[in-house]
Amino acid sequence: MEDLSHYIDGQRVQGASGRFADVFNPATGEVQARVPLATKVELDEAVAKAAEAQKAWGATNPQRRARVMMAFGRLINENMDKLAELVSREHGKTIPDAKGDVQRGLEVVEVCMGAPSLLKGEFTNDGGPGIDLYSMRQPLGVVAGITPFNFPAMIPLWKMAPALSCGNAMILKPSERCPSTSLMLAELLKEAGLPDGVLQVVNGDKEVVDAILDNETIQAVGFVGSTPIAQYIYGRAASNGKRAQCFGGAKNHMIIMPDADLDKAADALVGAGFGAAGERCMAISVAVPVGEKTADALRERLVPRIEKLKVGPYTAGDDVDFGPVITAAAKKRIDGLVDRGVEEGADLVVDGRGFTMQGYENGFFVGPSYFDRVTPDMEIYKEEIFGPVLSQVRAKSYEEALKLTMDNPYGNGTAIYTADGDTARDFANRVNVGMVGINFPIPVPLSYHTFGGWKKSSFGDLNQYGPDAFRFYTKTKTVTARWFSGIKDGGEFAFKAMD
Ligand code: NAD
Repeated sequence: MEDLSHYIDGQRVQGASGRFADVFNPATGEVQARVPLATKVELDEAVAKAAEAQKAWGATNPQRRARVMMAFGRLINENMDKLAELVSREHGKTIPDAKGDVQRGLEVVEVCMGAPSLLKGEFTNDGGPGIDLYSMRQPLGVVAGITPFNFPAMIPLWKMAPALSCGNAMILKPSERCPSTSLMLAELLKEAGLPDGVLQVVNGDKEVVDAILDNETIQAVGFVGSTPIAQYIYGRAASNGKRAQCFGGAKNHMIIMPDADLDKAADALVGAGFGAAGERCMAISVAVPVGEKTADALRERLVPRIEKLKVGPYTAGDDVDFGPVITAAAKKRIDGLVDRGVEEGADLVVDGRGFTMQGYENGFFVGPSYFDRVTPDMEIYKEEIFGPVLSQVRAKSYEEALKLTMDNPYGNGTAIYTADGDTARDFANRVNVGMVGINFPIPVPLSYHTFGGWKKSSFGDLNQYGPDAFRFYTKTKTVTARWFSGIKDGGEFAFKAMD
């Protein structure tokens, strides 16, 4: 069993607290490593060193900083297989899915290669007589990123690439369930030319998160995780005067209109509902067919597709559709929620409970479950299950389906399947959700747009990556300048006393 470390000042550093968390291989259920859990003292030291390193990094011109991102992007590509393996080993997702995890983070690094143009300020010539105004974007100093387990490469990259490109130093606190990818990314950044101390990976749990929130040097916190923690972090960071953007959980609905291509809708639902064992904040967990006929026809198409899904370890090859869930506790919780759905009267069409994998009996595998006739008062509708469970809620009309989506407290992503442009357009305009797919099930925007939910899926302002990230990780300074008449009016030739 491996003892993992922190990454401070350009090297791996052992933890000093004596406290550790187990890192599992979810496919086997075995503990494969221990990750140190930092104390407040360790965090404060890492921050002090980061603040020192940030001075020179912040003063480095943006194009030189962008060159580090260029080299970083090349190194990520060269190490794609190794990074994907690390992701799969700790998270459990399949290798093709893990490569997608790395790729969608890499795409944010690619945008950051053009950081100088995103960092340009504004200018007004002759705003008054002889008066010019200009604004500049300056780094905040030391910022922090706190990330979840479900995208061990992508989300740390969404945090570190824009923050560093803007000239900040960053404290990254990855999930204690999947810390190794962040450690490797830090090493690749050093190889790419990032000065030591500019990115510090500090592992830990609530203790170190609270230390981040209370540290006076840290100017901003970018968080991704579950809604209760997002709200807590937003509150404590804001009350300590920090800038905070905190992205939370989700319950994403997909509306299927009677005119939709139902085969395509069923394929989309299976991929978006069960991919990565449903452990995606953009997973579709609620299918909302409009009309009984649509619901019956969709169900008929979904059942065979779900029944033939292959669950297995990432080592079993590319025909595995999804892997285990993250912990034994997550498995127990998901199975319990399926039990609860049955008790509450939902129609369990495909039952994933009791699934075991031959040769991997101790792995955290959960089979796919599909409920029909779910109603909004049921716990399986209200909870973010974060597992391979798809709920179908039947709606009588488009308006009822839209209202259901809008009344849900979460607002991360949503989708509509229809052949009618007018309906799709109405949906996109009216729905109170941050990311919308039209005949597209997981509408994670490309890296030069921005990512963010509404309602209880996000606290604070500005989205992740894209132009918003460059606003979040910089502060604006605006200069109003007037120059009085000077040398152009001619030299003074008389020998005069100073006046
Ligand atoms: P989590 O909230 O348990 O953990 C996220 C981070 O917060 C981790 O680094 C963890 O160490 C820390 N943390 C956990 N409990 C804490 C506490 N009490 N005090 C302080 N810090 C604490 O989330 P998770 O289980 O790692 O990730 C899954 C969740 O993340 C899901 O709800 C999912 O929807 C959400 N998610 C959201 C997005 C998004 O962009 N909106 C993206 C990915 C995941």
